Amino acid sequence: MTIFSKIIAGDIPSYKVAEDDKFYAFLDINPVAWGHTLVVPKQEVDYIFDLDDATLGELTVFAKKVAAAIKKAFPCRKVGMAVLGLEVPHAHIHLVPLKSEGDMDFKHKIENPDPAEMKRVADLIASHF
Ligand code: AMP
Repeated sequence: MTIFSKIIAGDIPSYKVAEDDKFYAFLDINPVAWGHTLVVPKQEVDYIFDLDDATLGELTVFAKKVAAAIKKAFPCRKVGMAVLGLEVPHAHIHLVPLKSEGDMDFKHKIENPDPAEMKRVADLIASHF
């Protein structure tokens, strides 16, 4: 079971943003910017391009809805979307509100984000979903 499957199952806590029967969205615990959200399929697949075409399409559409909620919560130029997957072997999309290119620099994380603020951010995005 991956760490993200444990989060989806509720065995590990997360700052949940949105969920449906197939997908789950929650804040990245080491955000590069406030509002940095991960969107994952509940199906446990490591490499995103190993998802079947239908699931990949549905994942993207779910991420689109989450991105719209992020944009309302954090007014920005665009919500950036990235796929890395080098750390956690469970497919996921990173969504980050962007005002400039530097806002999506994965080498620069917010240090020790305050748990109360993370909860506030997750609830704010969730309220716009
Ligand atoms: P990558 O697999 O390279 O896309 O990176 C995995 C991402 O998952 C990183 O940005 C981590 O900060 C994030 N991450 C790892 N564990 C957790 C967790 N328990 N809750 C939220 N985000 C996590």
